[in-house]
Amino acid sequence: MDTFTNSKEKRILVTGGAGFLGSHLVDHLMEAGHQVIVADNFFTGHKDNLQQWLHHPRFSLIEHDITKPLDLQEVDEMYHLACPASPPVYMANPVFTITTNTVGTLNMLELAKKTGAKILLASTSEIYGDPQVVPQTEEYWGHVNPVGSRASYDVGKRAAEAMFTSYYRQFNIPIRIARISNSYGPRLPEDGGGVVGSFIKQALANKPIYVYGDGNQTRCLQHVSDAVKGIVKLMESDYTHPVNIAGTERFTIMELAQLIKSLIETSSEIVKKEPRQDDPRLRQPDITKAKTILNWEPQVPLKEGIKPTIEYFRQQLRNNNVETGI
Ligand code: NAD
Ligand code: UDP
Repeated sequence: MDTFTNSKEKRILVTGGAGFLGSHLVDHLMEAGHQVIVADNFFTGHKDNLQQWLHHPRFSLIEHDITKPLDLQEVDEMYHLACPASPPVYMANPVFTITTNTVGTLNMLELAKKTGAKILLASTSEIYGDPQVVPQTEEYWGHVNPVGSRASYDVGKRAAEAMFTSYYRQFNIPIRIARISNSYGPRLPEDGGGVVGSFIKQALANKPIYVYGDGNQTRCLQHVSDAVKGIVKLMESDYTHPVNIAGTERFTIMELAQLIKSLIETSSEIVKKEPRQDDPRLRQPDITKAKTILNWEPQVPLKEGIKPTIEYFRQQLRNNNVETGI
């Protein structure tokens, strides 16, 4: 329990703080001694992810859907993360997703305007769409299907970036835009946890590991601890343009499947399935800006970071088996 108020202590709102990335960010901010408020409607997030902070005096949790206005009196910083992030989840809920990205973002910008808070958007390397240019610097405008099955997410995030920039231009709101790439680590959602979660779950269950398309599409995965450090450094900078926060090791999805299969004792076979619509083929964000402006680059190699992630899923499986009596 804190016995004094730290003069550097800030009051920080994290929207989507009960989710995968948000809960790791909350851990970091709480450990740094700040007051943290989470606003989350538990659409994909869980209270369990925040278990260790629920009764802490510097922590509060508001169950709130950000598509409705949120009224708080004092906030110094806002990390705006609320939004479903996994393709199967946002594709099944496109109206909710685009409403969260647009109306929700507008509500959070209004709150920043009222309180004078700095506000950071968790944008995504997905805004580059299916890129025609490799690697992707922040100056690349992207190649995006505005009516495709990913549009509620990738066009939604482009709209959110445009809203942030408009509030900066017109009202001088201090904005930050983090274009985050595929992150992995403990607390990846068990369902809809992206490719890493899917492959680990399939391998642990000795089920086929499904690779969509030919498996040559690339991703630069980063460990969630690296992503959090990059996001926090961006918030602490005074840089108002977008910055890529991404891994530097480029893997094909087939290589990732083979790596996970080799690390888990499994009888799973790798099986190719129909490609996903508009699946980005050559994703490789350029992180020169993050290196030079933020002095940030990822530290955790995939081959190291993946092992504790596999352990996390193994433990979840054991817990579920205990609950169901298996
Ligand atoms: P997640 O699904 O685990 O977390 C999202 C959180 O937002 C959940 O707790 C969910 O309940 C909450 N939420 C969603 N809509 C809401 C609403 N309308 N009101 C209140 N809360 C709402 O996803 P994540 O992987 O932690 O992603 C967090 C953010 O980071 C997202 O904005 C995502 O676009 C961005 N991002 C994530 C990755 C990644 O690899 N995980 C990559 C790029 C960008
Ligand atoms: N993918 C796959 N099998 C799966 C899940 C995903 O082959 O079970 C592929 C997907 O087609 C994409 C990549 O892995 O090319 C990353 O998918 P993810 O859903 O993690 O996120 P994305 O980067 O597409 O938003």
